[in-house]
Amino acid sequence: MSDARDDAAGLPPAPEVVQMEVGLLQNFCEILYCSETREAAIVDPAWEVDRLLAEVERLKLKVTTALITHTHNDHIEGVDLLVEKTGAVVVVNPREAAAVRAPGRTLVDAVDGRDIPIGKRGVRALETRGHTVAGTCYLADGYVVTGDVLFVGGCGRTDFQGGDTAEMWKSLQRLMRLPEETRVYPGHDYGETPTSTIAHEIRTNRFLRCATFEEFRALRERKRG
Ligand SMILES: [Zn+2]
Repeated sequence: MSDARDDAAGLPPAPEVVQMEVGLLQNFCEILYCSETREAAIVDPAWEVDRLLAEVERLKLKVTTALITHTHNDHIEGVDLLVEKTGAVVVVNPREAAAVRAPGRTLVDAVDGRDIPIGKRGVRALETRGHTVAGTCYLADGYVVTGDVLFVGGCGRTDFQGGDTAEMWKSLQRLMRLPEETRVYPGHDYGETPTSTIAHEIRTNRFLRCATFEEFRALRERKRG
């Protein structure tokens, strides 16, 4: 496990970020884009691809990339449509790629530590297991897209297939070592605010306040949802 100082070291310049809530499960998608080249990535395209693309058009962007945090259906339901409409390449951890593999897909492996270019900007893939077998957070200079690993005031469940409470603990510990001002963009709108910061979560998120893994496991495995 690399040190978080390393996780944030030498990051490319950060893409602009637009957060959008979609669907009936309070999913968040993000549009990440380069303000110079107007190239864009969409994180976890689902439910309202037409609305996402309308925003893309309004901002005069060109979607080149879909970034997948994990392959639960509520996060990838719109990948086919997005690829069909834009030709975007799909960035996903190789251990979860089977869920999005289909004719015509161009897949890029979101292996740990890989920098994914978005125009002249970019984000870094951090493999964060625990909610699924190989979920990915995308770290930019100043913010992190956390999927269903870290929520505002919560963390993802570990009782689905591929979930692992010990891996979730390790993933959260890793996120906690990011620079504390790092803004958190979670995969669902489950908190008091749509985004937060690492510092705020360390202070207030009961899953991050656990002093030991045993305490965390008791809390995570007791509390479902
Ligand atoms: Zn999920």
